[in-house]
Amino acid sequence: TRKYNFCAGPAALPEAVLQTARDEMLEWQGSGLSIMEMSHRSPEIVGIAERAEADLRELLGISGDYAVLFLQGGASTQFSAVPLNLLGDKKSADYVNTGQWSKKAIAEGKRYGQVNVVASSEDTNFSTIPAFDTWQLDSAAAYLHYTPNETIGGVEYFWTPDVDVPLVADMSSTILSRPIDVSRFGVIYAGAQKNIGPAGLTLAIVRRDLLGRASAICPAMLDWQVAAENDSMYNTPPTYALYLAGLVFDWLKQQGGLTAMEALNRRKAEKLYAAIDGSDFYANPVEVASRSLMNVPFTLADDSLDKAFLAGADEAGLLNLKGHRSVGGMRASIYNAVGEDAVDALIAYMQDFERRHG
Ligand code: PLP
Repeated sequence: TRKYNFCAGPAALPEAVLQTARDEMLEWQGSGLSIMEMSHRSPEIVGIAERAEADLRELLGISGDYAVLFLQGGASTQFSAVPLNLLGDKKSADYVNTGQWSKKAIAEGKRYGQVNVVASSEDTNFSTIPAFDTWQLDSAAAYLHYTPNETIGGVEYFWTPDVDVPLVADMSSTILSRPIDVSRFGVIYAGAQKNIGPAGLTLAIVRRDLLGRASAICPAMLDWQVAAENDSMYNTPPTYALYLAGLVFDWLKQQGGLTAMEALNRRKAEKLYAAIDGSDFYANPVEVASRSLMNVPFTLADDSLDKAFLAGADEAGLLNLKGHRSVGGMRASIYNAVGEDAVDALIAYMQDFERRHG
């Protein structure tokens, strides 16, 4: 009875993960308690957290030079944590504006210091990524912030900016979809509710030399060094979300890790973009080289059919295809847990809908 879920987040979780969680809901591995009922200081939860961190380090190839932090407050809280931890006595930070999530990070950054928008694709309605050689970088900036995958616009970088200052990336909707070279980054952060696990958990991967620089007004809860010193348990962490994330990391390893996920994710995305491009009935506005592997927005040539498209999709068991309220149209989010069968079913539905209405 489970349906295909194309939600942008909270997103589909692997069915095997949900089944394990169901089996272990009342009693975790002979302990007599549910995970949710255990102290975060208990050996069980500490062990779960340690294993989740070790598996994540293995999946992403994270060296000991980086702290792995399991936090709360979502990626949106990191929009503040980044300047609070990194601005120090520097006057300004550089930001790239490629869409709605970049804009939110910029707006939040402005509360704490001077933000220089070094490049923007607003003039193309966020359908492109500004060429790197046009970026007005400042070598005295505290850091450069960018959004490697814009979840709403469906725009993704397939290259990493090469800059002299610490590179800070909001990887909420791309993390774990393919291998990355963590050593290129100062800080990577992500809300969990796409490729990591359920909402309520936030990941930050911070190069250790960037710890301990928080400004005096930085709340302890947002200070990465406090989190690192306390093994992400300065206060009560979201233990159940962490447990589920650990199950997801384990599942990813069983799938063959991120190289295998990338091959699958590329196949899924290529099929879907090919179906969109092969028809005059559907369109995707993003420049081909920057089309997201995870979030595929598309429009119908006749938007008066949008409602019928969505109603028919629901009936066909294809859920959450409505585009973000700010852009309209449709969006299929095809994260790791959305199988190729789901993409095949979506394409078949789109072609059938076109036959009936085109
Ligand atoms: N950044 C990106 C790229 C996102 O896609 C999202 C949420 O969808 C956020 C930030 C905000 O994340 P959160 O809801 O965890 O604060």
